[in-house]
Amino acid sequence: MATAREARRVALDNRADPVFDRIGLFLAQHRLSPDPLHYAFAHRVVSNPAGVLAQSVAALTEGGIRLTARDIEKLGGQVVTAVTQPEVAEAPSATDGLVAQTQMQVEGFTDMMHAIRAETQDFGRNLAASADAMRSTDRTEDIVRLTNVMLDRVQSAEARLAAATHEAEELRLKLEEARDNARRDPLTDLPNRRAFEERFAAHMVAGEQVCLAVCDVDRFKRVNDRFGHSVGDRVLRAIAEALTTACPGHLVARYGGEEFTVLFAGITLDQAYTTLDQARDIVATKRYRLRESDEPLGAVTFSAGITESQPGEFLGAVFGRADKLLYAAKDNGRNRIHRA
Ligand code: GH3
Ligand code: MG
Ligand code: MG
Repeated sequence: MATAREARRVALDNRADPVFDRIGLFLAQHRLSPDPLHYAFAHRVVSNPAGVLAQSVAALTEGGIRLTARDIEKLGGQVVTAVTQPEVAEAPSATDGLVAQTQMQVEGFTDMMHAIRAETQDFGRNLAASADAMRSTDRTEDIVRLTNVMLDRVQSAEARLAAATHEAEELRLKLEEARDNARRDPLTDLPNRRAFEERFAAHMVAGEQVCLAVCDVDRFKRVNDRFGHSVGDRVLRAIAEALTTACPGHLVARYGGEEFTVLFAGITLDQAYTTLDQARDIVATKRYRLRESDEPLGAVTFSAGITESQPGEFLGAVFGRADKLLYAAKDNGRNRIHRA
């Protein structure tokens, strides 16, 4: 019988074994848990570096790419998805988390579908066996046993399908959420530049003319310099809210920094100008105060340029025209809108 000392020596020897080390490295690289199924696959790969399997893995992972569960299954391995190690990344963003979560769900969903398919195949085989048994009258026990097995399989498949449907619904909601997050500015909760560009493109594809306004907060740097960045952030939120309220039914977006864009659809340039000028007036006449001390911030204003798109005109051209008008409005004293 091996003594404790011998056992420890064997363990230490194993630790020094390059195959043992390489298996550990392989599992870590491909974020596989230390499951026996994963070990078995890793062992087959690393123990024969010149073999077909190791060569296939090398080809698939060229450039540091990680093997997917599907790759491993195609290569004859098995993946235990539920215990796959989660991504270890420094402070992932909410969207990163959602994408990782969604990916895991997709993988889980695929595994479930594979399992159900395998069970259905078994079920077919059992049905065939049952039919054979029925042909011979002296095998009633076999028929009962096979029928019970089949009933179990049906119930298990039903439960898995119900779970899969639930997973799919969760996945759909998460993807919708991720899609929405990618198009929303986190500070103001307004649609972002990407959402704005997509909406403009959609109007162009539909052959609809739009009016585009580019708005820029006046002397905003002074607000930050005097009251701090977080007060500046609150001012941006207040302007976002005022613009959204004053331009109902039109797309108000935070284009970037202290610049907002408004896309007016279905109204004339005159109407769009009037609507935006009301928004400008609301912002300019509001008395902003510091929440903590009630100290007045002074007037906050914005300038804007607004123009109408021409049929077939690209965003760059329309935006460029509105931007020039905005700078003319700045040059002419700010807190005003120029149109053309
Ligand atoms: P002008 O009237 O010519 O537009 O003057 P301005 O001071 O508004 O323009 P400038 O481009 O010099 O400064 C814009 C400032 O907006 C500088 C930048 O720090 C600030 N800013 C941009 N994004 C944010 C933000 O998300 N939060 C805060 N607080 N400030 C921001
Ligand atoms: Mg600016
Ligand atoms: Mg500015």
